[in-house]
Amino acid sequence: MKTLNDFNFENKKAVIRVDFNVPLNDDFQVTDTTRIQSAKPTIIKVLEDGGSCVLMSHLGRPKGVQDEFSLRHIVDTVEDITGVEVKFVANCVGQEAEEAVANLEPGQILLLENLRFHEEEEKGDKSFAEQLSKLGDIYVNDAFGTAHRAHASTTVVAEFFPYNKCFGYLLAKEIESINKVMETGDKPVLAILGGAKVSSKITIIDNILDKIDHLIIGGGMTFTFIKAQGGKIGNSLVEDDKLNLALEILDKAKSKNVQVHLPVDVIIADAFSNDAHTNTVAVNEIPDGWMGLDVGPNTEAKFAQVVNESKTILWNGPLGVFEMENFAKGTIALGYAIAESTKNGAFSLVGGGDSVAAVKQFGFENKVSYVSTGGGAMLESLEGKTLPGIAAILE
Ligand code: AMP
Repeated sequence: MKTLNDFNFENKKAVIRVDFNVPLNDDFQVTDTTRIQSAKPTIIKVLEDGGSCVLMSHLGRPKGVQDEFSLRHIVDTVEDITGVEVKFVANCVGQEAEEAVANLEPGQILLLENLRFHEEEEKGDKSFAEQLSKLGDIYVNDAFGTAHRAHASTTVVAEFFPYNKCFGYLLAKEIESINKVMETGDKPVLAILGGAKVSSKITIIDNILDKIDHLIIGGGMTFTFIKAQGGKIGNSLVEDDKLNLALEILDKAKSKNVQVHLPVDVIIADAFSNDAHTNTVAVNEIPDGWMGLDVGPNTEAKFAQVVNESKTILWNGPLGVFEMENFAKGTIALGYAIAESTKNGAFSLVGGGDSVAAVKQFGFENKVSYVSTGGGAMLESLEGKTLPGIAAILE
């Protein structure tokens, strides 16, 4: 796997695909700089070698050229974070961009305008990719968030750098973390899958059953499993057309010697609201008119023990409706358990959508081994798919 460390960038221009798709407020100020911070080590390595950086990214989903999606809004923030003056060019291809690159000196940073101002980007257009390839000597992909897209700047452009292409530090770290869970992690390996529906996680479950020793199931998915086993789930979220599938998953897990841990008790509510009346009951004895919205205290303790005994932990999906304070306890307790286990030497990866939001919201971000920066890309990796952006560098 070629990374930045395989290259010396002295007097070289690195054209780097970053993910600067950051949120902006009404005054066009960046409200969350995480993605820019994450790209900093890659940028600094190139500059410290004596090279220069040509940064390319998308921002939002513009329809043609729309000023509100211009990357010039983030120039100041990139300057603040890198500590280097950032030049900006109002197009990502063509004469203007090529001239700006030609004038770039070692130690300098050039930010190109939004790639998605050209529809060829998302179409993966080859001649557009070829134009991008003229903007640097070495292609670096550091954008995990778009690695599952076969776009011009994430995948096709790599063809024009048969030898001079590599992963940036961020993307390399993402790949390493997924490999640690899926291939090289110390046993016992635990996957915790929560969230709303079985249907959206089924491909992941199928793929990871060969790689794990324990599977914790939580969140809304729980009730499809409990109903399939004959339990009473009241008005809880359920996918009635997935009951057989749930039983098949349990059988398959058994045949592969994977221990499945389901909740034993739940917090139930008489409405889908933070103000609803609540009670705690056995997971398979939920009265009609009530729905399970979080795991109960016995489940918290049971799950914590499994987490505690695991050496490699993957967490995807909350254990309850954590957006509502009264149903966030189970997810927070799980976060604590994972943080504790990590402190004791386990490797923990949190990835894919809402569990990342939960980890950030409840302050566990720095207490787990790695929090993935890519939602869809992470889910597709867990499903066992080869991401086109990654394959393009490896080829
Ligand atoms: P996902 O995107 O599939 O990971 O699902 C995340 C969503 O699942 C969050 O918005 C949670 O509020 C929701 N969720 C978790 N537990 C439950 C539950 N018991 N009932 C309904 N929704 C839930």
